[in-house]
Amino acid sequence: MIKTKKQGILIVISAPSGAGKGSVIQEMCKRDPNLWVSISATSRPMRSNDEEGKTYYFLNKSEFEQKIEENYFLEYAEYAGNYYGTPKKYIQEHLDQGEDVILEIEIVGAMNVKKRIPEALCIFIMPPSLQELKQRLENRGTDTKEKILERFKIAYKEINEVAKYNYVVINDKIETAADKVLSIIKAEKCRVDRIEEVALSNEEEYMHEMLIDDKTFSNEPLNINNTSN
Ligand code: 5GP
Repeated sequence: MIKTKKQGILIVISAPSGAGKGSVIQEMCKRDPNLWVSISATSRPMRSNDEEGKTYYFLNKSEFEQKIEENYFLEYAEYAGNYYGTPKKYIQEHLDQGEDVILEIEIVGAMNVKKRIPEALCIFIMPPSLQELKQRLENRGTDTKEKILERFKIAYKEINEVAKYNYVVINDKIETAADKVLSIIKAEKCRVDRIEEVALSNEEEYMHEMLIDDKTFSNEPLNINNTSN
């Protein structure tokens, strides 16, 4: 009776660096095969755990700027001295196939997406505390002390911007946080504004006509005391 939009939903997930959003998204993908995670381009140097085309597409600064000129990105932003951007290619394709598309991006990019696509679902993942966040950044062992400090300062600013998002989830345990985000996506799909149309079948239209013409029910007023189970 109700026809919901076949298109998937665009989900923007942001979190301060070190809040564990990558692990939460990985856990979500294990549980929901209908999710597709967009791969961004960046000009930041590769880390030991990075893989070209899997974690990011790695470009140098001038290659990235060339792509900006070519209008290649849905959004892009500068973060800790490097460019990061979401290639437009593929996103529409996956949405049209009914897959839910995840963009794992920082706050400036997230707000630019929201401006361009107001129906995007924006979720912010919070670390349990700033102490925990600092610890996680240090334990990663992938950045210099200066870079860790820079990321920590950005994280502090980002946490104060949480009100710009639709939902916030605290990542104290990966499985629980993944559960919560998946529940938010499920609930989002039930929103009335995601219904394409309320389409009645022929039988339902016929039933309606019969009701209007008073052909199916007697003229007796309904008396609930007379009804039996
Ligand atoms: P990292 O260097 O730790 O991989 O990422 C740094 C920040 O850049 C993270 O907050 C990450 O979510 C964000 N980021 C990754 N890809 C994109 C993107 O395509 N656009 C924007 N705006 N931010 C991104």
